[in-house]
Amino acid sequence: MAVPSRHVAIVGGGIAGLATAFALQERAAETGLPLPCTLIEADSRWGGKILTHRIGEFLIEAGPDSFLSQKPWGLALCAKLGLTDRLINTNEDQKKTFVFSRGRLRELPEGLIVIVPTELGPFLRSGLLSGAGIARMAMDFVLPAKRKPGDESLAAFFRRRLGREAFERVIEPLMAGIYAGDAEQISLRATFPRFLEMEQEYGSLIRGMLAGRKRATPTQREGEPGRSMFVTLKDGLDEMVRALVTRVKEAGVTLMSERRVEALRVRSGRPGVWTYDLLLEHGPVVTADAVVLATPAYASADLVRPLSPGAAGLLESIPYASTATVSLAYSASELGSSVCGFGFVVPRVERRDLLAATWTSLKWPHRAPTSHVLVRCYVGGIGREEILKTDDETLVRRVREDLAGMAGVTAQPAYVEVNRWHRSMPQYTLGHLERLEDIQASLGRYKGLWLTGAAYRGIGIPDCIREATETATQVVRYLSASPL
Ligand SMILES: Cc1cc2nc3c(=O)[nH]c(=O)nc-3n(C[C@H](O)[C@H](O)[C@H](O)COP(=O)(O)OP(=O)(O)OC[C@H]3O[C@@H](n4cnc5c(N)ncnc54)[C@H](O)[C@@H]3O)c2cc1C
Repeated sequence: MAVPSRHVAIVGGGIAGLATAFALQERAAETGLPLPCTLIEADSRWGGKILTHRIGEFLIEAGPDSFLSQKPWGLALCAKLGLTDRLINTNEDQKKTFVFSRGRLRELPEGLIVIVPTELGPFLRSGLLSGAGIARMAMDFVLPAKRKPGDESLAAFFRRRLGREAFERVIEPLMAGIYAGDAEQISLRATFPRFLEMEQEYGSLIRGMLAGRKRATPTQREGEPGRSMFVTLKDGLDEMVRALVTRVKEAGVTLMSERRVEALRVRSGRPGVWTYDLLLEHGPVVTADAVVLATPAYASADLVRPLSPGAAGLLESIPYASTATVSLAYSASELGSSVCGFGFVVPRVERRDLLAATWTSLKWPHRAPTSHVLVRCYVGGIGREEILKTDDETLVRRVREDLAGMAGVTAQPAYVEVNRWHRSMPQYTLGHLERLEDIQASLGRYKGLWLTGAAYRGIGIPDCIREATETATQVVRYLSASPL
């Protein structure tokens, strides 16, 4: 007897939507449940924030350029897609990162785990922190843990544990590179809950990090065996997108690009069982038994508003930062000796436009011909978005002024490209986790409707993949259990 099938619609063809479609097909194959699925994307291309292209011999990442190997879900997906051999590590020969601090680039000393300094000696020698700053950092060993560990901003937590200087000069710039956010607003519980647990468990952040390092096997510490902390794919992250598109297509998923979902309607033939109609900008109505919204929170807000104005309001209240990346190619012979290592970050207290600069072709092999160096600059973010209002010419001029002032790069670039990312980085501000619970409760009656993607439980690519995979499991569980 034929098993009755249910239709799933996924809205948004970024990594979250694609990974949901892929995992759904995997689960469908495992359970024998036929699962027709339609993936709908507003844009003409797949991948969302992941956007790789080639300009001659340069390989340019307009959005993300790598992902963390310590979070296993990115590597695991690559393995399933047959891309393990395509993964590349950062260039060991250049394994140094710098911080622009008090007038010059200073190397980030050894002993930094994730973003927390664990060895005080190298910091003393680096000149990055004053003696008083290092002494204050060491007080982490003796300061008592907070009695009532509620939500706290990243800034408040790290200032409390490690002191103002370590926070402003080391932690803030590293964190800003991940979230493009304001550490005074970002929730510790929603972003780095492990640090909170460490404080409670070990009474000290540094002790907790060191204990974690001892417990971990050497391979765990550095990511998968032979993997650097960040990895990428030989032809850029778009390889992952292309492989996902091919695989979901082969599995029978219907892919609809250039189709914006304009509205979501719901009807119910029986109590508790919903049918969803997705109204597309140019195209037919797509009817589904389950819907996954893998769209930015503000886009999902518009779609769920008729179902739950409360959930829409909460989704809309998740702030987004706008950013831009500026890629510049220079003739290698014209760059000075300060262009070495992976690049540098700039603390907010320095009050510059530049958030960070990566010497892309030194960090990753094959990103530029040997005659040239490819540089990627990162601007914008909460409280630093004013530069994004300027035209490309002014934006590039300001970036080049910072590159000249901080790293002595005064040469004329052979190629320049600006990629603007409007409302691109969701901010997990204080109370974020409670907000997620409230959203879930507000949409609770609409069985068969899920939200996934960077806005919720992890902004990086591995976390988006993890959450998408979990969502797919829940969809299959729901459809297997609910009566036709
Ligand atoms: C400049 C930049 C650098 C980054 N660097 C890194 C990095 O190095 N490593 C890392 O791990 N992460 C990085 N990130 C974060 C990471 O790239 C993103 O969080 C992640 O790719 C988001 O995936 P997503 O699928 O949730 O959302 P998106 O990629 O935003 O996908 C959502 C999709 O939904 C579509 N959509 C929206 N509304 C509708 C609608 N109504 N109908 C149909 N489709 C719709 C959009 O067109 C889009 O394609 C970076 C982000 C940016 C912006």
